[in-house]
Amino acid sequence: MILTDELLLNYKRCRRRTYLDVHGNPQQRDPEKEFLLKLRRESQTHINNVLLARSFVYQKPLGSWRNWSLNARQTKIMMQQGVDCIYGGVLALNFTDWQSATKLVNSDPSGSGGQHSGETPELRPHLEAKKETLLTHNLTEAAGNKLTFLAKPTLLIKVAGKSNFGDWSYVPVNIKLGRRPKSEYKLIAAFHAQMLAAIQGTIPANSQLILRRQDSYFVNLEYWLPKMQTTVADCIAMLTELDEPEVFISRQRCNLCHWYNHCYDIAKSQQHLSLIPGVTPKRYEYLSSQGIETVEYLAKINSSLVNEAIDEDIINQLQQQAHSILHDRAILKSTHKLANRLEFPNNALELYFDIEAEPELNLDYLLGVLLVDRQNNTEVFYPLLAEKPEDEGIIWQQFLNLVTRYSDAPIFHFSEYEVDAIKRLARLYGTPKTEIKILLSRLVDLHHLVTESIVLPVESYSLKSLANWIGFEWREQGASGEQSVCWYDRWLKTSDRSSLTSILRYNEDDCRATRYLKDWLVNFLELD
Ligand code: SF4
Repeated sequence: MILTDELLLNYKRCRRRTYLDVHGNPQQRDPEKEFLLKLRRESQTHINNVLLARSFVYQKPLGSWRNWSLNARQTKIMMQQGVDCIYGGVLALNFTDWQSATKLVNSDPSGSGGQHSGETPELRPHLEAKKETLLTHNLTEAAGNKLTFLAKPTLLIKVAGKSNFGDWSYVPVNIKLGRRPKSEYKLIAAFHAQMLAAIQGTIPANSQLILRRQDSYFVNLEYWLPKMQTTVADCIAMLTELDEPEVFISRQRCNLCHWYNHCYDIAKSQQHLSLIPGVTPKRYEYLSSQGIETVEYLAKINSSLVNEAIDEDIINQLQQQAHSILHDRAILKSTHKLANRLEFPNNALELYFDIEAEPELNLDYLLGVLLVDRQNNTEVFYPLLAEKPEDEGIIWQQFLNLVTRYSDAPIFHFSEYEVDAIKRLARLYGTPKTEIKILLSRLVDLHHLVTESIVLPVESYSLKSLANWIGFEWREQGASGEQSVCWYDRWLKTSDRSSLTSILRYNEDDCRATRYLKDWLVNFLELD
């Protein structure tokens, strides 16, 4: 078995994912998502930009990326030769060398002695106590012999200092597209430091991250090395003991995972509580510790039994959600006030507004507006599209002209994004504050109105989930905001107009879905 830095990084995000990556049935994996491929390309572009901006002159191992053992040998030879900068190098260790490296890094109480980020090693006593466990992790010899550790730091940089190679040693540098030094990045930086310590016979002076804005971050190895060792030991235990972690669907985490459909089917078949909006991993842990593992049980328990750990309002909310799912019907929230109904403007003309954006470029490339004339029963869709990113200012002005022409019409939208985008565009293109103040006062956020007033039998309160439940269907199957970003990227690269057509259809359907939802909600609140 090979424990790679990538498996470890995923383990930090979801233990189950690493388990499935090693022991899962590859046929149950989803095909690679276009959005993920785009992210990978952007990550490589970022690496290239950093290499260029910092004038790194590097050498690379020559084997194909699959041939890790050849690349590991070549990397070691380059380090012995004293190459200044190695890009794409491979570090490989067997289990015995890993154990020796654990002893080596734990023997230096100051960790690396290098530059630290200022984190307080508050867990030190606990981790000190754990060292022995980590070293003597009860792997059978046979299992240990089959284990290889593999790491691919972006760069290995030569620095002064004694090592097995001579009067020089190496430090690992990882170039990441993230804006923040996430904990999984730090964990991997520590993993690379320990791998390198084993190979060069000395602990690296530091382990560095270069992030999206090309800013450097030095990982506190004193703090992260013991944490990483615990994680590695836990991960090995899970993998060797075939201890498959339970499924837990969390939209944010699972969205881009290639096991999503496999895990979702299992969660669905088990009616898993993670499919209930509001059930977070922490709340789930508590509910299951109390034996509350089904929707039925959650719906009927006496809420005072769990009030100690979960706030009364939250548990009431979860119970209403469970009732709604059990009976497959919308329920008026117990906290809903009749006065909320007055929030709905009642005008002959209405505008429905939805934006397509590319966060990587900080760009809003489509401002879609659906004009609805209730008196004459007509609809017109205005797709204000920036065919080139430089046209964003033009479509912003077109949008202002359009909403000014229908100045009495309320502007319905779904989620906070439209509010933030209007503020950003106004700042960027110097729109007078008074004009924006009036515009913002016309916005009506349907997501807010729905979540304040009703509970629906859905797995998430996204526009797609809500509109689907009330019977609206998008024309583009499988379309999503992420897919729209990929279409726009494809359009910019290939000038393929069919990508633009797909974006417009998707955005128009988003506007129509928002209208559908608004009409349904008004009707529901009036009848209830
Ligand atoms: S879909 Fe979610 S639960 Fe399943 S492996 Fe991926 S991240 Fe983990």
